[in-house]
Amino acid sequence: MTLLGALDLGGTKILAGVFEADDLDVGEPAGLTAWRPVGRRQVKTRAEEGPEAVVARMADLLRDLAGSRTVRAVGLASPGPLDTRRGVIIHAPNLHWRDVPVVERLEGLVGAPVFLDNDANLAALAEWSVRDGPDPLLLATVGTGVGGGIVIGGEIFHGFRDAAGELGHITVAAGGAPVECNCGNRGCLETAASGSALQRRLRERLGRDVTAGELARLLAAGDPRALEAVSETARWLGVGLAAAAALLDPEVIVVGGGVAGLGEPFLRVVREEVRARLMPASWRGKGGPQVEAARLGRDAALLGAALLARRRLAVGGPHNGKDGKRDPRKGDPA
Ligand SMILES: [Zn+2]
Repeated sequence: MTLLGALDLGGTKILAGVFEADDLDVGEPAGLTAWRPVGRRQVKTRAEEGPEAVVARMADLLRDLAGSRTVRAVGLASPGPLDTRRGVIIHAPNLHWRDVPVVERLEGLVGAPVFLDNDANLAALAEWSVRDGPDPLLLATVGTGVGGGIVIGGEIFHGFRDAAGELGHITVAAGGAPVECNCGNRGCLETAASGSALQRRLRERLGRDVTAGELARLLAAGDPRALEAVSETARWLGVGLAAAAALLDPEVIVVGGGVAGLGEPFLRVVREEVRARLMPASWRGKGGPQVEAARLGRDAALLGAALLARRRLAVGGPHNGKDGKRDPRKGDPA
């Protein structure tokens, strides 16, 4: 049995897993029932130690999890912007890294091909794989920030510059937006619909910071200030998703990340806002885009990374386009 490695590199933690390749049926959506890793571990990133130390830690994790066996390929989920063809993290603000040739370094330590993609893109691919082939699928991850991923025809859509799916930086408030985004602009969806935005609204209304557990209790008790803060955040997410949906006409919109953990009270408002802003006349009897909760939780990007490795291995060809002959992202088996 072929063993695959998967890594989800984040600002605070690294998730690592090893998977049996045969459990990951790459061509068949909804066939992914045995997706649980044969081994999984989480450690702190400690990004301040620098890329070399962190990459070495990732290699050690895979070695530990694989035991006496060797991984044949590794998928790596990372925040971006990335150059997936060259295998380079161009800029990861949470890690304070710039221009890190992470694929080359990791390959040198692991001794197997490594394939890199954006964490939200890979989460989108994984969520696609546990559904009945929705086409297109749009994923929003709502945590500290807002991320996005697009799957069209079962493939991650990267765009021309590897920059597609940057949902968080769609402008939703062109004038007078109070908060500057991490990208330097004002009026980005991320400043209106992220966990940070929700926290800001709670602070305005309650006069203090609110933990996730406390928020859940306030919502259960029907606290109007908490409900208002949550639905305002959800409405803004709906505004951004409606803009993306007008462009993409997604079959399904999946909402994941910590804020989506608020469940139906949050999702219901998002769904209403998306539908209210689209044109039902264009739905041709198919109904508007489904807006549903992510199914894979915190392991979505990890599983997506395993699927990426599985797909590239199935092609059996060059990886990350280093020989320039093949677009590595057209990786489905024939
Ligand atoms: Zn922005």
